[in-house]
Formats: sequence, C-alpha cells, structure tokens
Amino acid sequence: MDIINLLSEQISNQIAAGEVIQRPASVVKELLENAVDAGATSIKVHIKDAGRSSILIQDDGSGMTRNDAAMCFTRHATSKLKNVEDLFQLKTKGFRGEALASIASIANVTLKSRTENQKDTGTCIEMNGGTPTRNEECICEKGTIVEVKNIFFNVPARRTFLKSDTAEFSHVRNEFERVALAHTDIGFVLTHNGNEIHNVNPSNLRKRITDVFGLKSNEKLVPIEEKTDIVSIKGFVGKPESAKKSRGEQYFFVNSRFFKHSYFHHAVSKAFEQLISDKSHPSYFIYFDIDTEKIDVNIHPTKTEINFEEGKFIYSILLSSIKQALGKYNIAPSIDFEVETSFDVPLSHKKETPVEPEIKVDPNYNPFSKFESKKNSSNGSNKALNNQGFGKKSDAKEWEDFYAIREENKESQTSFIETEENYTKNKYLVKDRYLLSNVKSGVLIIDSYRGKQRILYDEMMLRFVAQPLSAQKLMFPLDLELDQNEIDAWNDSKSLLSQLGFSFKVENKTFQLESLPACITEKDSKSCIEGITSSLIAPQKPDKGELAHELISKLVFVASQGIKLRTEHEIESFVNQLFSCEEHSFCPFGKPIMQTLTIEELTTKF
Ligand code: ADP
Ligand code: MG
Repeated sequence: MDIINLLSEQISNQIAAGEVIQRPASVVKELLENAVDAGATSIKVHIKDAGRSSILIQDDGSGMTRNDAAMCFTRHATSKLKNVEDLFQLKTKGFRGEALASIASIANVTLKSRTENQKDTGTCIEMNGGTPTRNEECICEKGTIVEVKNIFFNVPARRTFLKSDTAEFSHVRNEFERVALAHTDIGFVLTHNGNEIHNVNPSNLRKRITDVFGLKSNEKLVPIEEKTDIVSIKGFVGKPESAKKSRGEQYFFVNSRFFKHSYFHHAVSKAFEQLISDKSHPSYFIYFDIDTEKIDVNIHPTKTEINFEEGKFIYSILLSSIKQALGKYNIAPSIDFEVETSFDVPLSHKKETPVEPEIKVDPNYNPFSKFESKKNSSNGSNKALNNQGFGKKSDAKEWEDFYAIREENKESQTSFIETEENYTKNKYLVKDRYLLSNVKSGVLIIDSYRGKQRILYDEMMLRFVAQPLSAQKLMFPLDLELDQNEIDAWNDSKSLLSQLGFSFKVENKTFQLESLPACITEKDSKSCIEGITSSLIAPQKPDKGELAHELISKLVFVASQGIKLRTEHEIESFVNQLFSCEEHSFCPFGKPIMQTLTIEELTTKF
C-alpha cells in the first residue's frame, strides 16, 4: 500500500509557522518589516496582553490591491523577489513570502488595505487558522492595518511555551526598538494595553537614540564615522563611564537591518579594553552600509546573524574608528579607573552549566515562611539557603573548642607575642581581616569580612520577615542608568524592593531612586543597584524567597564593605555575635567563614 501523500497547505504553513513565529514578538517583527518594506512613513503598533490577545499594526505605506490582499496569505507569495539574481541584491527585509501565511495559520487575522489608486474603499480579508473567512470591500485609510488575535489558539503546545507577560512584552519591545533604531526616517508608536511606551517622530540618529532610550543617553554618545570603498560605518558608542554591568544597548545594523555578530562585538570590546573593567559592557549603535552582494542575509528567517565577505577587514576598520573616536573626544585620559567591586559569588555556582528553566507554581507558597521557620529552627538549616547550596550544618565543635580555650586561657593569656599591635586578649587580627585564635586542636582562623556578612545577613533577614527594613529618603532623587528591561524588572519586584527600603519612580524613561535601605550609603548606591539589577534580570529568575535571599545578600555585601574591627571590645562582640548565628560556618554567599589549622597540619610545616 502506498503511504506517502502531500501535506495540506494548512499543515505545511503551520509547520513553517513553527520556525518563523515563536512568540508574539516574532509577529511584531514580521509585520513591522512588511510595513517598512511598503514604504510607510508612520507605523503604529498596539499590543494587548503582551500580544497574546491582540497585535495591531497600522502603516501608511503602499497598501495592497484587492487581488494582492487576497494573495498575500498564500505561502511563497511575495512581491519582493522575482528571480534568482534578486536574491543577491535584496533591499527589502522580507523576500520569502512566508510570514503572513505562517501567521494566518496559527491565529485569527484581519487585514485591511487600500492603495493610493483605490479611491474610497479598500479590501478587508479575514483568516482563521489558515482558512479565509471574509473577503469584502471596506472603508479604510491608505496603507495597511493587520490585526493578529489569539495567537497559537490552535497550537496549545506553543501557547503554554510562552513566558510571563512581562517577558513576552519585553521581547516585543526589543523587536520594536531594533526596527525604530534602524529606520530613523519613519515615525513609530508603540502602546501596550493602551499605555504609550514609545512615540518617536522622524529624526536624525542621535535624536532617535535619545527618544528611545531617554534623554540622558544624549550626553553619553560619542559619534563614530568611517568611509572606505568596502564599507561605511557610522553611529555612536557610549562613553566608557556609561558602561554597564549588564549587557544593555548593543546594536549593529547593516543596510538598516539589525544583526548580531560576535566577531564585530569583539572589535568593539577591544577598542574599550583598558577603558572599562572587563565586567562592564559598552553600549553601541553602529550602522554599516555595504554593497548587498557582499553580505549573505539568506540564512534563516529568525536568525539575526549575517555573514560578511570581508569580515576581517571590517573588524579592523571598526576597531580603529572606535579607538579614534574615543581618543578624539578625549575620553581616554579623563577616565577615573574605579576599583572593581564585584559580588562574592561562590565559585561552584560559576562553574555550573545553565539548565533550561522550569516554571513551577505553588499557589500555597509563602515566600517568607522559610525564613520564619529559620528563626525557630535550632540547627540553622534553611531550605532557601540549602537550595542555593548554602546552609551546611554548623560545626558545633568549632564553637566548643573556641569557648573551651577561652576558659583555659583565663590563666595564661600571654601565649602570643604581646607587642603585636593588633593583639587583643589571645586573638590576633591579621591584615585587618583574619582573626587568629588559639584553640584546643590548633589555630582557628576566622575571616572577619565574611563573619560580618553573616551577622548582618541574619540581622537583616530577621528584621525583614517581621517588617520592612528602615529606609533613608534621599534629599535629591538619584538618576540611574537602567534600560527598559531593567526598569521593568524593578517594577515587577516593586513590593519586595520597597520592603527592603528602596523606592523609585520612572520619569522620561529615566530611573530615579528616591530612597535607599538605611544600611547603604549614597556612595555605595550605584554598585548596590547594579548588583540588585543583575539578580532581577537574571534569565533564571529565582522564586520570591530566593530573590529575597539574593537581594538581602547583596545589600549585606555592599553594607559590609569597609567595616573594620578596631578595638578589643569590637572583636569580642563580633565573635560573640558570630557564634550566636545559627549558621556561623558559612557566609551568605556559601563560602567558609572559619578554618582550623590543626596541630598536625602545623607540625607538617616544620
Ligand atoms: P515577504 O515580506 O517575505 O514578501 P510576507 O508574507 O511578509 O512575505 O508578505 C507577503 C506580501 O504581502 C509582501 O511581499 C507584500 O507584497 C505584501 N504585504 C505584506 N504586508 C504589507 C503591507 N503592510 N503593506 C503592503 N504590502 C504588504
Ligand atoms: Mg514579510
């Protein structure tokens, strides 16, 4: 029996949609590109529920004739490619004729379109899951409106794969911003659930960047420009002092198309070498103009990588033009090299290969109950901490040893050299950090930095579960450099953050900090905000309890900077406080606080 048959057009469109349309943002990208290709001067994008319920895009471009409007949903229907040669001279974004057919196969789509020549009425077409359900004349403006509703209504597996509205909308916004940055001569509007997110008029590049990323970015842009026979490069790089800990605004465009290129990215990083720390990332908006025959965009519809014939040459042009620009604007000598203050992340975590995140929802989950139970439990084991690989059972022996020897030493307190400046009773402070003490089994070494972090962490955690941490209001709100994704992440965790003592508002796309936790000085606020932001935007977002743990750890890290033990009394009370912490063997970052150098170990050294 023969078993091979041809797939129906509907099924093959759905299969194609699987590749081209992964989420609402893919629809936005395709429809925006069609509007740009249609020569629009104004494009409006209205999104509802992150694109789940509706994506509507209106342009004032060429519009489609009655026949074209009906035809555009057919697979491989395109006006942009007529023969093989065209493939190497592409000036348009699309050319495969797949997007509309794919979108129509997995959603309810309404298209209204009118050309200049159609005087009053245009065409309205409706498609439901790939089937045409309406084709009639309608009143509409010149140009095209496409509304895509109920995306993936007939592909439940895809629907469940979608992330939170915040995550999905941030994909939408990223796609929108890429297109808006690529086409400064077009006006764009983006709204989400009726709120205006962007509204930018046609303008020059500098103005477009500041319109999209907030007024403050203007002062930070250094222009670059270079023309050669092979490529012209123009655009801006951010001044080194505006580099960020999180990868933010990094954009390459070639012939007005956004792309990613790790090799060229390397050139930019190299130009910034020694101007910024290797943990910071420069921002850049770099536009290449190149003969279309010298690039290959025909890789995959959803891929943003592009192959360049003369990659090596472009690399060196790019590197030298950025270096020159930074030099010309006299950036290099005025840099004040800041000491790197990165967070103390356990090594074991760094080595872990990231795993695909799972979404688990427990409706009965109380984020703070874990910490409540910690208060009452005697062994200090705490699930949130254990999950992080922390919270190993404390070693009671160290504690006993420590106190046993204190008893013993009541009689002989002169066992160490008394002339040592940092001598205090029978403990010695080495390098302002390590506290050495004579114990039964040898020498106990306490890392006082980490010990302080443990004490502060436990104090803050206890206070935090009971009531919000005390906050200090800033006399003048502090403007901070956060991009829209980061601002959204702060908004998402607003209540948790305000419990920690942070309050903020967003004006003109600028993040303004209004209050800080009392334990953080204004001077440390920048590194604190950066640390907290990096936790908030982490791809594997921790649950609320873990997030509280992470944020408090970061506050602790910043607050513990510069705390030094000076007097004998301070050392005594530090030791007492540390040993009354349930978990005094490990700091909140999972690193050991104390080690014993045994007599045996000491003997082997001699
Ligand atoms: P492609 O863009 O690859 O050609 P699409 O499926 O995205 O494929 O679109 C099919 C065709 O429909 C386009 O080639 C174009 O002729 C027409 N079209 C789509 N969107 C618009 C629009 N907004 N304005 C005018 N024509 C459009
Ligand atoms: Mg297209």
